[in-house]
Amino acid sequence: MKISQKLYIRVALSIAIVAVVVSIFFSILSYYSSLKEKKNTNHLLVQQLAQTMEKTAAIAAYLNDHELSQEIINGLLRNDLVQGASIEGEVNPQGETDLFIASGSINKQKEAVSIKLIHPFIEETIIGILSIYPDDNFIQQQAQSSLEKEFLLMLIHSIIIAFFVSLVVRKWLTQPIQSLTDSFAAIDPTAPETMKMLAFKQGKRDEISRLTQGINALMHELQLTISNEQELRKKTQELEAKFRLIFEQASAGICLLDEKNNITTFNPAFKHYFTMPGEEELSSLHFPSLLNNVEELQALLIDIRSEKNPPQATLDIECKVGHRTIWLHCLFVRLADQRKIQRDAHEHLIEVILHDVTERAEREFQTRFEADHDPLTDLLNRRAGEKRLKKALRDCIKHRHYLVLMMIDLDKFKPINDTYGHEAGDKVLTTTAQRLKKHFNQETDICIRLGGDEFIVAQQIKTYDKATSNGQALAMLNEIKQDIYISEDIKCAVGASIGIAVGPNDGDELIELMLNVDKMLYHVKETGRGKIAFYDEFKANK
Ligand code: GH3
Ligand code: MG
Repeated sequence: MKISQKLYIRVALSIAIVAVVVSIFFSILSYYSSLKEKKNTNHLLVQQLAQTMEKTAAIAAYLNDHELSQEIINGLLRNDLVQGASIEGEVNPQGETDLFIASGSINKQKEAVSIKLIHPFIEETIIGILSIYPDDNFIQQQAQSSLEKEFLLMLIHSIIIAFFVSLVVRKWLTQPIQSLTDSFAAIDPTAPETMKMLAFKQGKRDEISRLTQGINALMHELQLTISNEQELRKKTQELEAKFRLIFEQASAGICLLDEKNNITTFNPAFKHYFTMPGEEELSSLHFPSLLNNVEELQALLIDIRSEKNPPQATLDIECKVGHRTIWLHCLFVRLADQRKIQRDAHEHLIEVILHDVTERAEREFQTRFEADHDPLTDLLNRRAGEKRLKKALRDCIKHRHYLVLMMIDLDKFKPINDTYGHEAGDKVLTTTAQRLKKHFNQETDICIRLGGDEFIVAQQIKTYDKATSNGQALAMLNEIKQDIYISEDIKCAVGASIGIAVGPNDGDELIELMLNVDKMLYHVKETGRGKIAFYDEFKANK
């Protein structure tokens, strides 16, 4: 810090300047007042002097004695107060004189102390005038020298006061403020441990001590607040790092959907699910468009946004990524944003957590398939088949449709087993199943292996036409009859018998319909095999 910037120096300089200005002002004031006073005093003294010399001067004027007069004048001139003097005689009737008896350095411009000289013997007769001119220069010199002394004294006085004031300011103000400033300079707001208590003189109750105490109290509070804040920030950062780790490294795909179901945030696992190899960015940010069942998904998202519904929902979704089909188990969670108390339903954010369950789904499909299908032919087994038939019959009754049920049993199948072996028999059974599948619509028709060499084929049709069904059954018989290669050079052929019943005409309960179709098959077997029999004919002939 520059010396001129120091407070106590500036205080001292200010005091000194003010003192000098005040000294000059008062010295001048005192000079003029003492000058005037001295002039008056001098006048008075000169007057007294004139009065003292009056008698002698009157005699000198009466005698018109130049020598005596000069003596008197010289005596007066020796006095420091007198600059000039004269004794004049011969007073004219107007009271004016122009005859100098004696004089010394007369300055007519100056005001003189004049005393009329009275005749020593005749009263009231003026015989001359004694004029004494006071020495103004002397008075002025005296006044000036007293002014100089006074000014010098006042100056010394002011300098001494300024010096002591600066010492006092330095001791009581500047030094404590300086030590406060130094303590402040050592404080680092980011390191609360540097906020030590500022030192102040205990016991003193002056303003600086009280200021220091106040600052200390404030800093103590600040230190506590900063420490707490830092602690909190550290914990928050740790927590954030943990959550980030969970989010970044989670095996589940996580994303956030905004009110328009657009993806706002997603983790690497999520990106991995929907990014085809070689593709950098997600092609679409509209979440439902990424998946197959867009409409079902959008309905679910609308539901979940409503406060009336539970805040969570799950959905297994089949999804095509490139040429790959994956199954995702999705958990949708409605997020309540604490920052906004009132929100419209559509404004809710939704968190989606996805797990790739393709393997599990495929296993489940396999298990369900195995539970429902015959392992040899892949056709529906009796249990699953009957379940499907029941539903189909219910639907047909409901929609006034027809269920044409054909029960097929291979003719003389056992001998194939016996002749060529069980494996050959299996080959016949699988080939027959393939032929049935080929003959019927896999999506709408139902093909069942009831057991052994017995099959059922069922068709749901709007209008039943016996001729058409008969034609189909005949075509199927022909197909079944075709040669089957058991091995490269061994072939065989089996015929089949078919019984047909039509629901609900021949039974509105599956058990009844099955009984009737079984009767027909038995009937064909009984009556020579390789044929088709309709239950309605059998019923009519009964
Ligand atoms: P029918 O003309 O009267 O129908 O005489 P069938 O020789 O065809 O005899 P039936 O239908 O009564 O018996 C079916 C036979 O099929 C009995 C059983 O040995 C055989 N079989 C049952 N299941 C299997 C199988 O899974 N594989 C093989 N290879 N044979 C089977
Ligand atoms: Mg048979």
